[in-house]
Amino acid sequence: LDAKTPSEILRHADSAMFYAKAQGRNTYEYFTKEMKHDVSKRLALEEQLYSALDKNEFEVYYQAKIDISTNKIMGAEALLRWNNSVLGYISPVDFIPIAEQTGFIVPLGEYVLQEALKMTAFWHQKYDSTFHIAVNLSPRQLRHSGLLNFIEKTMQETNISSKYLELEVTEGMLMGGHKYIIDTLNDLSQKGISISMDDFGTGYSSLSYLQDYPFSVLKIDRNFITGMMDNAGNRELVQAIIAMAHGLKLEVVAEGVETQEQFNYLKQLGCDYAQGYLFSKPLTADAMSILLKSAI
Ligand code: C2E
Ligand code: CA
Ligand code: CA
Repeated sequence: LDAKTPSEILRHADSAMFYAKAQGRNTYEYFTKEMKHDVSKRLALEEQLYSALDKNEFEVYYQAKIDISTNKIMGAEALLRWNNSVLGYISPVDFIPIAEQTGFIVPLGEYVLQEALKMTAFWHQKYDSTFHIAVNLSPRQLRHSGLLNFIEKTMQETNISSKYLELEVTEGMLMGGHKYIIDTLNDLSQKGISISMDDFGTGYSSLSYLQDYPFSVLKIDRNFITGMMDNAGNRELVQAIIAMAHGLKLEVVAEGVETQEQFNYLKQLGCDYAQGYLFSKPLTADAMSILLKSAI
């Protein structure tokens, strides 16, 4: 027996459809126990998510970005962490999509922006007046009409100039070519905020996006960097991506740089910035302060 009530059977059918879609087109799936387990895990997570902001369970971590030509820290990416009293540590890979689907990403994203800009103001004052901060944006945040105002207000309150703020978006949110997306990205860019194409190379990588939208930074996905040294094809791709990006006047960040060998090769190719465990894992704000202090 699959379900006891009509609403339950509909929910299960919905889960099965969700799984089938994840498998690709032209397929079907029967509802299984595993799906039921996944659904209840998801529900538990969703339930905890709503109160987590009020309970102060989120923390913003920072991962340094290195200027490859000088070997110096030029800024950091803000990465969210969630430690829940009931479920323990939950990866952003698991909770960001749920926050996105439920709309909770709007207040959560505002929290990240606010924290990141506050810390940047502190670091500007104490350690490095040109430190750049990159913040990830989800599709839902771009659709939210209050985004631009919120960012401007927060930049004013923290006294951070827009040239130190970078917003990372993935190309998934550009698909469909909605007018409000391009309008919002253009508005942000006109304010002097950099827009960065995150995870480049993983999705459809439609090159026209790089021209049609106001990008100024391209981040090469970690997968290419990881495979680079033992896969000639990957090396060629990375070289081609850097050349193309520079041709389009974009700066290039390599993600997931873990070895000196990768770093040297990227330097040889003229890649601008590198981010990865080779220099630093994502750190708490306090640990980032120590790192910045030691770099003066
Ligand atoms: P992302 O934006 O691609 O972030 C980079 C991820 O790669 C981070 O995972 C980072 O910890 C990891 N990473 C960095 N260097 C290395 C390396 O050398 N080796 C390996 N193996 N991994 C490395 P994290 O922090 O788990 O974040 C996962 C994803 O969650 C992010 O991917 C981003 O899409 C999303 N996310 C995180 N924080 C936020 C946020 O505040 N807002 C939104 N919308 N999404 C966020
Ligand atoms: Ca990112
Ligand atoms: Ca990325």
